[in-house]
Amino acid sequence: MIYLDYSATTPVDPNVLDYFVETSKHFFGNPNSKHLLGIESENQIKQTSAKILSLLNMENSEVIYTSGATEANNLAIKGVANKYKNQGMHLITSPYEHSSTVASFSYLTNLGFEVEVLESRNDGLIDLAELKRKIRKDTILVSIALINSETGIVQPLEEISQIVRSNPTTIFHSDMTQAIGKIHVNANLVDLMTFAAHKFYGIKGIGALIRKNTVQLEPIIHGGTSTTSVRSGTPATPLILSLGKALECAYENFDDKFSHVVHLAEYLRNELTHCPNVFLNSTNDSVPHIINISLITVNSIALQNFLQRRGVYVSTQSACSSSNGYSQLIYKMTGDDLRAKSSIRISLSYLTSLQEVINFISIFKEEVQNASH
Ligand code: PLP
Repeated sequence: MIYLDYSATTPVDPNVLDYFVETSKHFFGNPNSKHLLGIESENQIKQTSAKILSLLNMENSEVIYTSGATEANNLAIKGVANKYKNQGMHLITSPYEHSSTVASFSYLTNLGFEVEVLESRNDGLIDLAELKRKIRKDTILVSIALINSETGIVQPLEEISQIVRSNPTTIFHSDMTQAIGKIHVNANLVDLMTFAAHKFYGIKGIGALIRKNTVQLEPIIHGGTSTTSVRSGTPATPLILSLGKALECAYENFDDKFSHVVHLAEYLRNELTHCPNVFLNSTNDSVPHIINISLITVNSIALQNFLQRRGVYVSTQSACSSSNGYSQLIYKMTGDDLRAKSSIRISLSYLTSLQEVINFISIFKEEVQNASH
């Protein structure tokens, strides 16, 4: 098997899994209980939150644990909108967002909020001047993902943050699900940030929304008092602790792991660009971990199936939006129907070996040849 779908999800790091098993045995007390076992679990969660904030270099913030990035995006967007609707009903987002962000904004549009989606461009970046023009006194939220999951294109966070900051009442949320564990981020530039453990070798079912203390949120899950006022229910202590562990592991040998992926990506991009009928949809602004291409002679689902029969796993678009294989995003960027119909995402990891990439290229070239006959 050659797994090249690490941006959909990653295999769990054995150290994280061991830690999960160990902490499940030791810290089974309900963190909401006021007896010793509960307090012990609560303290473990507090220590994990402090570790996460320190690894991300964030201060004066709360880590709100969620089931994953989808829930964190829902909480950020709906939570801000409902809390601040008396100050304004205007919200801005980008055309390069994950379906959980898009769907949260659609829900708010139906409730009467005014949602503006910035124009898409063929470089996959937002237009900073347009953002500047569109921010108004009543804009309560700007939500822009740092890295697009399909193309890996990284938005200029610092510049965006500066523009949002020019209106002190606007809250800046960034979905950093594809960034955490891949690149160093300056999370202090945002007020709210989303991420999920399963994208960096953690366990599925745990993610977080980090909230600066200056931001308030209306809960989307209501119930009793818990370790956070924003999400009721019994906190999943071992999953939460495993998230901290996964982040810690992700930061170990970070630069070496990154360089390895850069090396693989250079090799792969070079080989792919020399294949006939192949177009690169990722750009120089993309992280090396994500390479989106179109082999315009083959429909993306047919290509995915062919590769699967040969033991190679890739995505069409991203895992959450790949029902028909047609990429709206690639169409928006390129205006080319053929490229939109045939795009696939190859995603790499520090676990990927050069040999796997070489084998992938030779299998891929067979399909290129077949398709040209
Ligand atoms: N945001 C981005 C950018 C993603 O890539 C994903 C997952 O593909 C999500 C959100 C949703 O993550 P989860 O599966 O943890 O809900």
